[in-house]
Amino acid sequence: MSGIVLGAPLRGWAAPLDDVPDPVFAERMMGDGIAIDPLEGLIRAPAAATVASLPETAHAITLDLANGAQILIHIGIDTVALGGEGFEACVAAGQKVAAGDPLIRFDLDAVARRAKSLVTPIVLVNEGFRVVVEATGRQVAAEEPLLRIERVDGVPAGVAAKDGPIAERRIVVPLPNGLHARPAARVANLAKSFAANVRVAAHERTADGRSMVALMALGLKRGEEAMLSATGPDAEAAVAALAALIESGMDEPEALPSPAPSPVPSGDASVLQGITASPGLAVGPLAHFRPVAIDVPTDGDGVAAEERALAEALAAVAASLDGAHGDSGLAAAHRALLEDPELAADARAEIATGRSAGHAWRTATATAAEKLRATGDPLLIERVADLEDVERQLLAQLTGTSPSAADVPAGAILVADELLPSQFLGLRGKVAGIITARGGPTSHVALLAAAAGLPMVVAAGRGVLALAEGQQVVLDADAGRLETQPDPAKLAEAEQRVRASAERRASQAAAAREDCRMADGTRIEIFANLASPAEAALAVEAGAEGCGLLRTEFLFLDRSAAPSEEEQVEAYAAIAAGLDGRPLIVRTLDVGADKPVPYLPRAREENPALGMRGIRLGLASPDLLRTQLRAILRGVPEAQCRIMIPMVVDRSELTATRALLDEVAAELGRTGRVPLGVMIETPASALLAADIAEEADFLSIGTNDLTQYALAADRLNPATAAMADALHPAVLHLIRLAADGARKHGRWLGVCGGIASDPAAAPILIGLGATELSAAPAAIPALKAAVRTLNADACATLAERALACGSAAEVRRLLGDKG
Ligand code: PEP
Ligand code: MG
Repeated sequence: MSGIVLGAPLRGWAAPLDDVPDPVFAERMMGDGIAIDPLEGLIRAPAAATVASLPETAHAITLDLANGAQILIHIGIDTVALGGEGFEACVAAGQKVAAGDPLIRFDLDAVARRAKSLVTPIVLVNEGFRVVVEATGRQVAAEEPLLRIERVDGVPAGVAAKDGPIAERRIVVPLPNGLHARPAARVANLAKSFAANVRVAAHERTADGRSMVALMALGLKRGEEAMLSATGPDAEAAVAALAALIESGMDEPEALPSPAPSPVPSGDASVLQGITASPGLAVGPLAHFRPVAIDVPTDGDGVAAEERALAEALAAVAASLDGAHGDSGLAAAHRALLEDPELAADARAEIATGRSAGHAWRTATATAAEKLRATGDPLLIERVADLEDVERQLLAQLTGTSPSAADVPAGAILVADELLPSQFLGLRGKVAGIITARGGPTSHVALLAAAAGLPMVVAAGRGVLALAEGQQVVLDADAGRLETQPDPAKLAEAEQRVRASAERRASQAAAAREDCRMADGTRIEIFANLASPAEAALAVEAGAEGCGLLRTEFLFLDRSAAPSEEEQVEAYAAIAAGLDGRPLIVRTLDVGADKPVPYLPRAREENPALGMRGIRLGLASPDLLRTQLRAILRGVPEAQCRIMIPMVVDRSELTATRALLDEVAAELGRTGRVPLGVMIETPASALLAADIAEEADFLSIGTNDLTQYALAADRLNPATAAMADALHPAVLHLIRLAADGARKHGRWLGVCGGIASDPAAAPILIGLGATELSAAPAAIPALKAAVRTLNADACATLAERALACGSAAEVRRLLGDKG
């Protein structure tokens, strides 16, 4: 007999792993082994070994055996949640132990009362070895021979990816739409930043944490449990970071736009009913979209050549995503698919059987699509279109064809079975509207159409495919329908409405580049909120006169280490360049609460929104803040540069930040004063605005947070979302206080929360004293048009009347009456 014999680490009932009430162990995701249902509370060393890792919670231990095998002893199931209570380590990591030495003592009764199960798996966790079970299905005494660990010939011992400490965490998915494409891409991205091998297990399946496709195929829905596990040097950090990311809810919207009701037949044969994907009205000749099929050879020219061709094509398509889409969410999702380890492994396996790169990728895509369809989840099934789109782009690259080749007359209403995002992008600007037989309202094409303001209806059924080419139709995307035989009067009326709305949009867009003044000449600056370099130039095009809030979190989230100073300098400089000399207000990092970052030590918080977030976290991690301030000063030209701090409560936080900023400026040889402003986002800062404004260079109201704190209505909680109305008179009174404080010291006051994008709210905000509104870029043309119709006196009167209202509904009624 060869190998190392492991004695039972404790007295109890030996059972196969299949009996463990946890799929991670029962399905041997961690490795093969055995389990013991304990009859005593002492874990002993099963053989001579070195302690590889022992978490602080002391609920598990990994041991390195003399032959290189590594085993994990895990006391009970889900015992990590006990936080170490009832467990006591007798050894430390790195310590050498002899067979029979005590390793961990635990309180059998106390743990049994609180844990899901006491069953204790003992598993081999690295490769190159196998397990031979010596005793099972009976009671064993401590140290009685239990398992033999043998080396497997030809397999290198201790394959690196699985070596090292092990960590695990059970989580409940809070994501409103489950682990769909966007969160799956973020999880996969973060998992890739760790050396550890990360797995996510749920529904008796397990997924490679770096594979977006595999994660989506788990079909995880809101409220469902998943087990995160990691093996590798940074396993603990990886699991902690991924759990924090998923548990944060990732800022996912409560419900994706337009729930998909089943199309209701209209009863009128000349009307086809679908679902609104992007609202609007369009009139034009109907044109069918016929994509060109891309042929690829089945057989390849040798494994090495095909692998090289695949790698080159993947790299080329990835490079073409940079900037091509103008939609960073879509580009990120497509990039995640191009980098997906599972898709790549499946394709390589096909190539190894002699297939061509194109055939292999097509096969791998079909397998992945099948897995998504098998979840039965309509949101995930919609993502098949993204898989097919990436396939089309890759095959086009491999074969030298155009992925979006299609010939459609300008101004047509396009009919397609289903459209891929890249095909849409090839058509944008040419067609007047789109209707598809299939597809869903939350697909990327739908979002792209909405962003482009192009009317689109989806899921209209196969009937649309039978319509005659060239017939004049009316696409009423607001109502989700297509009128196939409009009479001349109907056609003329629809054409008139389309013209009027186009003229309105065109005049708003044309005037958007002009500086904004109210009808009485009062200057109101209309700035843009930005969250990435790509948006800066687009915002200027939409009419932004500067950036009133740069949310710098984009640089810091979803990664395992903070961005370097150089990386930040580059990003800030790119945004400043995109703004072409216009002012850029950079907000210092506002992480914490719902935006956790794994590399900042943070205790678990019962109420994260009231915890270490915003400037509190910045001042508690001064190195991070100092680096960011340096990067801002280096990246943003002096004339454009302003800095703003989030989540301020009183002046002391401003004073501390000012001191740090002045120090950094002096280090960099900057002599001019860098404007430093404060976000008014807490009721405290609004109440103390006069004191704060004495030292601050400007104030900007963050109505999103100010509203949630003033009204005690969590901005992320769907149940309180409707209550969190920034036009509530209580919030308006706080804004008025802030405005009074700013005015007292001659500071300007802006608004950068979501309400600033709403043209209807502009007269109240201006009436209360705001002279700058920082809005979503797409909202700017309409916002400027609305502000140009206002005059200061009427705004002040309206604001007074709003302050006298008793509820948000009353304020909204007031606006309605006015309009
Ligand atoms: C706000 O709170 O209104 C704000 C602009 O900041 P954020 O939405 O980034 O918290
Ligand atoms: Mg805020």
